Amino acid sequence: MRYVRFLRSNGEIKYGILHKDNSIQVLLGTPFEKRVLTEEITSLEKVTLLSPVEFSKAVCIGLNYRDHAEEFKKPIPKSPVIFIKPSTSANRPNGPIYYPEMSHRLDYEAELAVVIGERCHKVEEKDALDYVLGYTNANDVTARDLQPVDGQWTLSKCFDGFLPLGPYISDEVDPDNLKIESRVNGVKKQESNTSNLIFKVSYLISYISKAMTLLPGDVISTGTPDGISGMQIGDEVEIEIEGLGILKNKIEKEKR
Ligand code: MG
Repeated sequence: MRYVRFLRSNGEIKYGILHKDNSIQVLLGTPFEKRVLTEEITSLEKVTLLSPVEFSKAVCIGLNYRDHAEEFKKPIPKSPVIFIKPSTSANRPNGPIYYPEMSHRLDYEAELAVVIGERCHKVEEKDALDYVLGYTNANDVTARDLQPVDGQWTLSKCFDGFLPLGPYISDEVDPDNLKIESRVNGVKKQESNTSNLIFKVSYLISYISKAMTLLPGDVISTGTPDGISGMQIGDEVEIEIEGLGILKNKIEKEKR
C-alpha cells in the first residue's frame, strides 16, 4: 500500500491510498487508525502533496553508513548517534528549502525514513517492523557550517523546512536492501544501498523505543551515505530510494 497526504483545492487536508495509475482513493481518517476508504477518487494531478505524515518527533541517526563515517574521518560508532528534528522542520514534496541567511554551506543528505504506524515502547528487534506503517524518502538538510559550532547539531539541522519527506509512504519495500541516491540539478551526488547501514531499521526501532515511546506518525531517519556537498539558491535537489519515488525540492532565498 502507498499512502499520501494532500491538500485539496477546497483547502481540506486528506490522506489517501495512491494507486499505480496515480489515482488516489481518499481515506476517511488517517492511515494510523482503522482504515476506512471512501468512494471518492482523485488524482495526483488535482492535489498538492504534503509531507506524507505529521510527526511528534523525527528521530535522526548520524553516521550510520560506513562510507559516510569514513568521509568525516570518524570511527565507526558502537551505538547509534541520535538527534531529533522538530515538527516545524517538516517539508513537502516540491516545497521550497530556504537557504538560511546565517549559513554559508547548505547540504543535502539522502536518507531512508521509517514511519511508525503504532505506538511503540520497548519493543524487541524481532518484533520491531510490526510497528512500521511504511517507508519514505527523506532529505536531512543541514547547514553544515553551523554544525561544528553547535555540539548538539540542533541549530544546523532544525531550521523550518529542513526535513522534506515523500512523495508517499510505502509498505511494499524491504528496508534492508534499497538503492539510495541523491542528485543536484540532475547530477548524481550520492549512491549507496541501505544494506550498508551500520545499524539496521529493526535495531534502530528497538534501540530508540527503549528510551522514548514512538507514536504513530513519528519518523526515524536512518542516516546518509557518503557524497554530501553544498547546494546553492536555485538548485533542485532530488532524493530517490528504490520503490519510494522521487522527492524533489528547490533551494530558495530565505524570506524575511
Ligand atoms: Mg543525516
